[in-house]
Amino acid sequence: MPISADKLIEKVRDHQPNADLELVRFAFDFAKEAHAGQKRKSGEPYIMHPLATAEILADMKMPVPIVIAGLLHDVPEDTDVTVEGIRETFGSDIASMVAGITKLGKIKYRGIERYVENLRKMFVAMASDIRVIIIKFADRIHNLRTLSALPPHKRKRIAMESLEIYAPIANRLGINEMRALLEDLAFTHAMPKESEWVSGLMEKAIKVKKSYVDRVKDSTGQEIKREGIEVLDIHGRVKNRYSLYRKLLKYERSMVQIHDLIALRIIVPKMSDCYAVLGIIHQKWKPLKGRIKDYIAQPKPNGYRSLHTTVFCEDGEIVEFQIRTQEMHDEAELGIAAHWQYDEDGKLAKPEVKKQMAWVKELAERQKFLHSGPNFEESLETLKIDLFQNRIFVFTPEGDVIDLPEDATPVDFAYAIHSQIGDTCVGARINDHIMSLDTKLYSGDCCEIIVDKNRKGPNSDWLSFVKTSTARHHVRQHAKSKLTRWIRNIKNEGGNN
Ligand code: MN
Repeated sequence: MPISADKLIEKVRDHQPNADLELVRFAFDFAKEAHAGQKRKSGEPYIMHPLATAEILADMKMPVPIVIAGLLHDVPEDTDVTVEGIRETFGSDIASMVAGITKLGKIKYRGIERYVENLRKMFVAMASDIRVIIIKFADRIHNLRTLSALPPHKRKRIAMESLEIYAPIANRLGINEMRALLEDLAFTHAMPKESEWVSGLMEKAIKVKKSYVDRVKDSTGQEIKREGIEVLDIHGRVKNRYSLYRKLLKYERSMVQIHDLIALRIIVPKMSDCYAVLGIIHQKWKPLKGRIKDYIAQPKPNGYRSLHTTVFCEDGEIVEFQIRTQEMHDEAELGIAAHWQYDEDGKLAKPEVKKQMAWVKELAERQKFLHSGPNFEESLETLKIDLFQNRIFVFTPEGDVIDLPEDATPVDFAYAIHSQIGDTCVGARINDHIMSLDTKLYSGDCCEIIVDKNRKGPNSDWLSFVKTSTARHHVRQHAKSKLTRWIRNIKNEGGNN
């Protein structure tokens, strides 16, 4: 059967009936022509790969220019057609996205030095146009799907990199759909035994729980409608395999304490409906203490909004509910990418997007410390720490939210506000109590930093408890310069003798 763009066109039309479908078809023919005669490692025609990449983007409801850039993403790297050629044919917006991906290059593993350099490039490209990273994610998802064609050592390396770098970035940008795909596809190759074990557990547990959840779904849906609230959708969502795995590790590899394998998701028209539904559920069933989470009033740092509650449901079974509007749902699945659905020209003026971009820019900025010097392994670990950690929010007395990694301390908080404040902090007032600088902060804490302007600089003992690379960097810098000064002084004294 000849390879055609029909399925891709269908997918684009589904979400965007008014899109320029002819241009999509033209781009497909263009890419097919350019890649003519090339084959993938699996033996299939090369065009299969960019086509699949574009289909993933279309499934995510991405606008046509991004889908087209997906079709063309390997053209300059692998064929005679240049970025300039793409610019002449498709215009400068699409060409600049393709150029961004080409600049990232194919990540070839040539030791840790090259690898860190590649990552740095990725952050820089991401900071200049975030659409580039979304195309890169789609590219990676298809490469993971066809990973079996590669030799085992390459398979493992690509899988590990997807788990440790790509998925955490997708998570931080709130692109849940891609995060889950990257994780689950990579998990299979990175840890085959563990992956099989989780699949087995999951299958068994779902079999047991499925009909029960269906029953609760029906009765809850009816109850909400009886109270006069429209239900746009109610469905069971199954936790993705790799998230379940991480949770199992936390609970001694036992399913007993995991209550959200299947959660019930309720989608309602308005924000006020979310709270009304929460009330209805709590009237019907008793909530578990400490498990009611209002991510609408306090969204997660990646922008996630929803109400969560876990209740003792029918027959005493424990069930988690997630309540949200359609807009919150789209944002939860697509994160920063959700905003292009309504924003064809990709200008991204929304404040949420600006906040995310600020994070990406900061990350790129931080990589300046990362690329050179002999300590690549250390740099890579620092980067992983920044990406991986769960985040908490801590408030300033003015009510600004500072986003920090879990277990961060007032020193991290101080440096996150300004290096000057970090350098001169001497104490902290957390929720109106004076606390030491190594106290662990928690989400929702209000923290005020006490500074002493006469303080000479940070204390190198802080290195034993700070959690952010920003704080670590500043404390280290200072410790270093203090040491250099000291050595210089000794030298000078020596010279005077
Ligand atoms: Mn590719």
